[in-house]
Amino acid sequence: MSQTPTSPSPRRNVLEIPTYVAGKPPAPRPGLTSYKLSSNENPYPPLPGVIEAALAAVEQMNRYPDMGNSALYDALAAKLGVPVSDLAAATGSVALIYQLLQTFCDPGDEVVYAWRSFEAYPIAVAAAAATSVRVPLRDDGHHDLSAMSAAVTERTRVVIVCTPNNPTGPSVTQGELDAFIATIPSHVVVVLDEAYLEFVRMDDAVDGVATYRAHENVIVTRTFSKAYGLAGFRVGYAIAPAPLAGALRAVSLPFGVSGVAQAAAIASLKAEPELLARVDNLVARRAELVGGLRDVGWQVPDAQGNFVWFALGERTGEFAAAAEEIGITVRPFAGEGARVTIGEPESIERVIELARRFGH
Ligand SMILES: *Cc1c(COP(=O)(O)O)cnc(C)c1O
Repeated sequence: MSQTPTSPSPRRNVLEIPTYVAGKPPAPRPGLTSYKLSSNENPYPPLPGVIEAALAAVEQMNRYPDMGNSALYDALAAKLGVPVSDLAAATGSVALIYQLLQTFCDPGDEVVYAWRSFEAYPIAVAAAAATSVRVPLRDDGHHDLSAMSAAVTERTRVVIVCTPNNPTGPSVTQGELDAFIATIPSHVVVVLDEAYLEFVRMDDAVDGVATYRAHENVIVTRTFSKAYGLAGFRVGYAIAPAPLAGALRAVSLPFGVSGVAQAAAIASLKAEPELLARVDNLVARRAELVGGLRDVGWQVPDAQGNFVWFALGERTGEFAAAAEEIGITVRPFAGEGARVTIGEPESIERVIELARRFGH
């Protein structure tokens, strides 16, 4: 006989949700400029046109935002060459990942993803009462796509490919992705998390839109948080075949994306040339950092996002503390490594100097 509880109790899966560890801000150090390199944020301040658009939307705060995100969908549809029916916007692409797990998974259904990867995945999977199936990355920080394919069972509903992979950096190629998707049953959703798409510079890079066009079971997620510098406003979107995108919209929080966020996102699409020139600068800084690290004897995985991974193992905490001492906050993953965001130009040299002194 089950006892009647005396107080409300969350479902068991809710009690099992791991805690999201947000990147810390640096502690102020007198006489030393500090750099927050712990959250993969864009170091550039907002562009004037974007601020003006957001400020104009602020004046409408007594009104609900456009629930249909219509102007944003129109702008994205024009940019991407996809129908509005195939788009779903939400409060960051993290929200879309929650929504798609809620849409496709019953309790106990399996979600396959690489590990270590984006720390929101296990949280979102647990929140959906689904089961995480984590497939270890290769030693070089790449997804092990054949192992991921082998991990698919009758219970699998969703597989997530994070490319470039946060926090290790490598991307999959289009050839690898095509071969992988060909092994996945057509009733299983393949999610392509392209949060760092704009930073990718490699041969045979993934074309997410072409991939979604070629398959009925592919959902691409993207965000304005990284390349477009709108992390604080929470806006991301999915591109998916109409029935899938429609389901994502159906479970979305009504009026989730604020009017300010919609306005800033639309203005950012208009300002794309300036924003992408900033991305080029960040990519150049990334090359400078990776090259500088190599020169002092460090090997880091191929870095295709706005961050670099230091596989430090047991020395991770020590490295994070040494970085903090010189005014740099990194994102440590205890016992595994540290992720360092590409930030202000002055931070690059400081990170190289830290790596040199710390030793590899
Ligand atoms: C940052 C990030 C996201 C997007 O986050 P939002 O701010 O919610 O749009 C999605 N996936 C990965 C892998 C990320 O690193």
